[in-house]
Amino acid sequence: MRLAATNLSSIFGLSSTRSALARSLAAARAPRSSQLPRARESALENRARNVATSSPFMTSAAASASLLGLARFPAPRPSARGGIAVPAAHRRRFTSSVVAVAADADVETANLLPDALQWPSRDQTCGTLREGDEGKTVTLCGWVDKQRDMGGIVFADVRDHTGFVQVVSDKDTPKDATDALAAMRAEWVVCVTGRVKKRTAPNDKVPTGIVEVAADKVTVLNTVAKSLPFSISGAPEGDDDELREEVRLKHRVLDLRRPQMVRNLRLRAKTIRALREVLEDTYDFLEVETPILTRSTPEGARDYLVPSRLQPGACFALPQSPQLFKQMLMVAGADRYYQVARCFRDEDLRADRQPEFTQLDIEMSFTDMDGILSLGEDLMCAAFSKGADVELPRPFKRMTYAEAMSKYGSDKPDVRYGLEMAELADVVAGTEFKLFAGAIEAGGVVKAIAVPEGKRISNSRLKPKGDVFNEAIAGGAGGLAFARVGEDGVTLEGGKALCEGLQPVAEKLIARCGASAGDLLLFGAGDEGTVNKALDRVRQFVAKTLDMVPEGQHAVLWITEFPMFEFNEDENRLEALHHPFTAPNQSDVANGGDIKQARAIAYDLVYNGVEVGGGSLRIYRRDVQEKVFDAIGLSEEEAEEKFGYLMEAFQFGAPPHGGMAFGLDRLVMMLAGAKSIRDVIAFPKTATAQCLLTAAPGDVSDAQLEDLHIAKALKPEKAV
Ligand code: ASP
Repeated sequence: MRLAATNLSSIFGLSSTRSALARSLAAARAPRSSQLPRARESALENRARNVATSSPFMTSAAASASLLGLARFPAPRPSARGGIAVPAAHRRRFTSSVVAVAADADVETANLLPDALQWPSRDQTCGTLREGDEGKTVTLCGWVDKQRDMGGIVFADVRDHTGFVQVVSDKDTPKDATDALAAMRAEWVVCVTGRVKKRTAPNDKVPTGIVEVAADKVTVLNTVAKSLPFSISGAPEGDDDELREEVRLKHRVLDLRRPQMVRNLRLRAKTIRALREVLEDTYDFLEVETPILTRSTPEGARDYLVPSRLQPGACFALPQSPQLFKQMLMVAGADRYYQVARCFRDEDLRADRQPEFTQLDIEMSFTDMDGILSLGEDLMCAAFSKGADVELPRPFKRMTYAEAMSKYGSDKPDVRYGLEMAELADVVAGTEFKLFAGAIEAGGVVKAIAVPEGKRISNSRLKPKGDVFNEAIAGGAGGLAFARVGEDGVTLEGGKALCEGLQPVAEKLIARCGASAGDLLLFGAGDEGTVNKALDRVRQFVAKTLDMVPEGQHAVLWITEFPMFEFNEDENRLEALHHPFTAPNQSDVANGGDIKQARAIAYDLVYNGVEVGGGSLRIYRRDVQEKVFDAIGLSEEEAEEKFGYLMEAFQFGAPPHGGMAFGLDRLVMMLAGAKSIRDVIAFPKTATAQCLLTAAPGDVSDAQLEDLHIAKALKPEKAV
């Protein structure tokens, strides 16, 4: 049904016969006044030009750039991908420039708003209109994505969280609605009622491209009163590099309007829902919240502390994970617990870390390791199936920690490609090549990677200053030894000392590496940790630069049988590799076996070389827990002071239990194909742990500090 035409004044709630719009346009066209600052003046001109004289040949991208006041730069070209390509020279300005239009336009646009606040209801979302909706009268609410005024006919893409649809003024559109559409600017909020009709020129690149909405009534709900720091619709899809991240984080409300961010947040919610369904519907898990204000937890990072007002001098710690609470819930008989839990770790941030992050945290009683791994596989499969339409192959492969470290030098190997490491200690020991023989004598290792068709990597890349060499150095190695396998497949070619020194064992060495004629051998020699780290880096780098990583493959595997402890050289003591509540492998500690040498019943889940989760079966008896505390050098008093409540709980009949946690941010990042976990977190922090939107952490008053019994000892000139 057609709606009765409303005149513009009533749309805008104005009593004047001359509409505010007309007034603002007139103002924009008025001769240059000496009182007007130049920027404001040209902004007004710009707007007027845009409204009144937009070229019918202007691309929509150019039109949107123009709306943002970018018309003073050369108009962006449509790119092959259908996005817009901004000329390189203008990218910086495009991405970070603050555009002059709206800040100056606020005075005039304010007049276009109705006097009263309105809360209209819509009966249709923008991105969901399809051919079958033809003929319906619909009411949409959303933001103006782009607008094109073709002189009489005006097009505006109206966008909500579901996508956008083209709204058009056609010959039946009341003049007021046409004028209102013509006045629209990017990111204004509108309510449009109109008829769905088929487009004469469908656009098969957008889901709604077969239809458009012929406007009957257009209500401006809000305008943009400040300069837009970047274009929402004009930002090239998937090319966030073009928008500087600080600008995006500072203006996160706008950034989150961008379609790919909308998709990421919705994918996150969908993934969490899929995980909850498995946990609750299939496994009868119970969601329990655990405290945020708590005591220090044992994940090994630095705590965030919250000083207590009521207990002078005492601090809460924010949980690094709910580890101890979930174990106590098991003692409490909860049986199967989960939580979408926020965790806090005050670490120096690496690319994919955040000071606060979200885990899917799980604990269950009366199950063995296979029971937990099988649940873990159900969860991963559900997440990938619902979140990315990918069916992961089951059961997931398993690999021991020892094998992973030996073959890949890493406990999170990417097994989508070969380049495995060969251990050469027994081959090179006692040879004349002293670098290798000496490393073995000193208790170290010698390992090598065979790169097929080795001539793809030139010698200059392997020598000092070469990119492959640099990777080895960045991994901690002192250099990078290499050799090539000769055409006969049994001799080594390369540096004189290496080739001559290893000549007697060359055939055996080449066979051990699984290499053949023409392959390149990259060696690491020295202490095991350094060799593994350096060769792991080299392996990943070579795979990437030689295009050996197959896209679209999903390599998921469990790493099992981690050692219980690793040696912390700085503190000169053992520390738990997972956390000290992890149970030791029972056969390793049977018959007086040394717990310090034992393997743990711990497991990590690795997807394409990224750790996405991990857990363990837990110790559930006080006597065993005490042995672990003792092994990591925690005195009885310290153990009592820190974990007394858990130890006591263990004395009240603790059931056998185990669990795991998935890093949700990272999981969703992979499902979304995002480059950074910040892209799947609504309000993330920067690498220096700051929120650019709220400017947290911020100053607090002296009075607040006093309340918390904190003396102001240090006031840096400028926060870092
Ligand atoms: N609490 C452990 C972590 O945060 C996971 C677990 O053992 O369940 O890494």
